[in-house]
Amino acid sequence: MDRVRDVVTLNTGKNIAVINIVVVDDEADTHLLYKLKFKKLFADIDELHLTSFLGADECLNYLKKEEPPQVDLILSDINMPKMDGFELLSQIRRLKKEIPVYIVSAYESLEYRSKAEALGAKRFISKPVDFRALGDMLKEDFNW
Ligand SMILES: [Mg+2]
Repeated sequence: MDRVRDVVTLNTGKNIAVINIVVVDDEADTHLLYKLKFKKLFADIDELHLTSFLGADECLNYLKKEEPPQVDLILSDINMPKMDGFELLSQIRRLKKEIPVYIVSAYESLEYRSKAEALGAKRFISKPVDFRALGDMLKEDFNW
């Protein structure tokens, strides 16, 4: 799997609301989980575009495209081969992209938390992801 683009159209009949979320994680299973959980979490949204990358470099290439895609939120794992989530985050900021980034990690440590914060992450959340809590954060941060 290089890149998977899942477009979930829910047709609620409300005003068209489109949310674009990018997930970066080297484990394919994680992407399946996000897909399942987000379908529930975003049941009120007309269109959810979930773009999944198994590597940080693929995500960067996507953001660097000539006509940059609209991205509302990036959720990134930390531990990945080649480029980790911290490096991805600093590269995104170097591109002057103000996209909100949630750093997701199986390693809950103060060091990781402060590093994520220093690099400009909006949130640091630990794995396994508590999707109910994540839903509350999205409501608070974006009113989704
Ligand atoms: Mg990982």
